[in-house]
Amino acid sequence: MESQTSFYSDIERINRKELEDLQLKKLRSTVESLYDKNPYFGRKLRQAQVKPSDINKLEDLSKIPFTTKDDLRINYPTGLINVEMDKVVRFHVSSGTTGDPTVVAYTKYDIDKWSELNARCLNMMGVKKEDVIQIAYGYGLFTGGLGIHYGAERLGAAIIPSSAGNTKRQIKLMKDMGVTVLACTPSYALYIAETIIQEGLNPKKDLKLRIGVFGAEPWSESVRKRLMDNLLPEPYDIYGLSELCGPGVAAECHIKDGLHIWADHFIAEIIDPKTGEVLGPDEEGELVVTTIDKEAMPLLRYRTRDVSCLNLEPCPCGRTHPKISRIKGRNDDMLKIRGVNVFPSQIEYVLARIEELGDQYQIILTKSGPLDDLKVKVEVKPNAVSDKPWDIIQLKKKVENEIYSVLNLHVEVDLVEPGSLPRSEGKAKRVLDLRGLS
Ligand SMILES: [Zn+2]
Repeated sequence: MESQTSFYSDIERINRKELEDLQLKKLRSTVESLYDKNPYFGRKLRQAQVKPSDINKLEDLSKIPFTTKDDLRINYPTGLINVEMDKVVRFHVSSGTTGDPTVVAYTKYDIDKWSELNARCLNMMGVKKEDVIQIAYGYGLFTGGLGIHYGAERLGAAIIPSSAGNTKRQIKLMKDMGVTVLACTPSYALYIAETIIQEGLNPKKDLKLRIGVFGAEPWSESVRKRLMDNLLPEPYDIYGLSELCGPGVAAECHIKDGLHIWADHFIAEIIDPKTGEVLGPDEEGELVVTTIDKEAMPLLRYRTRDVSCLNLEPCPCGRTHPKISRIKGRNDDMLKIRGVNVFPSQIEYVLARIEELGDQYQIILTKSGPLDDLKVKVEVKPNAVSDKPWDIIQLKKKVENEIYSVLNLHVEVDLVEPGSLPRSEGKAKRVLDLRGLS
């Protein structure tokens, strides 16, 4: 059925000018609606002296104040909802690691659009109605499972809603049901791949996996290579944030050089996180997103805290929607070690390139005097080195040198036995912060 692709191609390939006109129209009506109906946003806009009639071109967006997670917390649980409560059909709640959780509400329209965006993402990755997709993201208050679920259902693929956990059962299902698409966090995918091999199976022969829909945490190109070597040929990155809807905000096309962000629903900006100044294309900064097609809880200039950059060049795939680069990490995840800014994803990038190392690692933060310090614990692959002390010292040196060559930072590396570090079935916790204890 060709129609599946052509169904999406009109809006995905709409010319840039038309797309921007559409964005402006939707932006203005979003601002109008919040100005009139939402007491909190209305007050914020008045304080900033912005009226809906001041929004006459897309650049006028920069007049609007930012929204942050704190705005969501202050208005916990329902203060930012912009429709009558009887129009709300769903709440998702994200657990706050600090303070109150944040609540996101959806109308029927919002759920419908969310499904469409996820269907577009999956379609872009090559998922078809003939596919069998196993969704091993958590289902429930977390948006990951249900978001992808709706997208796959919209495409007509067969879904196995396995949710996260019970890895051996996941593998049995994949094998018995001929699963072709796996959706989960990339760290869980690595763990699944490791377990498949332990079970004596060969993923390339015994399973039919073809496409991976991996998101909810940043991951690097070297992890992509590992997943291609050990699990499936086509791992794709998908991006989302529960505050914006959940997964489906952006995803990679087959070019795999950045993620198309659906510009008929979202306006993306990159800002300098310190000054709030809007940065140009290809400049790295904090991703800020305005939702322009939401009923229950539209957000103006939401600061995602994710570090990325914007690419406005035409993509060889033919889609006109701009691309964001793969997320490097969260602003708040950035570590400052002896004057050097380090994202955990940069360490992962180095480790995953070294053949002898396993997939599991831990970054341990400690204090040395007034300064922060870090150490890396990483598993060695079974039988990758002899247990002769000299070989282990050599490998340790090699890893330390590689980290130095990328980060320009001397980091102590501790090689540990295979299987000795904790595994994760959802988002991995790679950083262990012992600074309060030392
Ligand atoms: Zn593309």
